[in-house]
Amino acid sequence: MSQTYLFDIPPTPGVPVKGETAQYPVSRIFCVGRNYAAHAAEMGFEVDREAPFYFTKPATAITPTGSTIPYPPGTENCHFEMELVIAIGVPVFKADLAEAEKAVYGYATGIDLTRRDLQLAAREKGRPWDFGKAFENSAIIAEITRAGDYAELGPQKIWLKVGNETKQDATLVELIWKVPEIVSHLSGFYHLAPGDLIYTGTPAGVGPIKPGDVITGGIDGLAPLSLTIGPAE
Ligand code: MN
Repeated sequence: MSQTYLFDIPPTPGVPVKGETAQYPVSRIFCVGRNYAAHAAEMGFEVDREAPFYFTKPATAITPTGSTIPYPPGTENCHFEMELVIAIGVPVFKADLAEAEKAVYGYATGIDLTRRDLQLAAREKGRPWDFGKAFENSAIIAEITRAGDYAELGPQKIWLKVGNETKQDATLVELIWKVPEIVSHLSGFYHLAPGDLIYTGTPAGVGPIKPGDVITGGIDGLAPLSLTIGPAE
């Protein structure tokens, strides 16, 4: 007899994959903090190479490109953060750089929406970042491109516009921690597996969103992303 549940089983969020009808199922979302020097500087930090650090979002934060979302609750300063997203495709634990590279299923463009006021208040008090980072509709993502169908990472531009105004404009070569380094490092702390996404951090130029904004973003060679901000609920 199969297990029964008292309530409907919550759905597993899925992300479309280029050339596939089946979707990539999302289980965990890891996010790298301060992975571009210019963004770290605008947040008041000098970046060192000591070790990357992370925060997480629930899988339920996944929101597909093209969505209109309500302005998030509990904040008066919600920011966009345009990011390269890694999708893991092979189970790895304590991976070296070569194993880490092979564990990457694909890449996507994403936005790490951040309730900056709540994040900074938490940071000042030494409290967790969850309220600032892990909330509904906070992980926007576009279609995944398989790693084998993508060029070597480096010169690709990563950008974000609010309306017609360019807010973020950088290249992936500016990533402090490169993709294999991130996957290798994180796999020392977690058994990474298919379903795990890693948002790799944002370049400089982060800023606030407001109701009525149409946000577009992209990374050369990957499916672009759009997001419309509706009124608060
Ligand atoms: Mn971020």
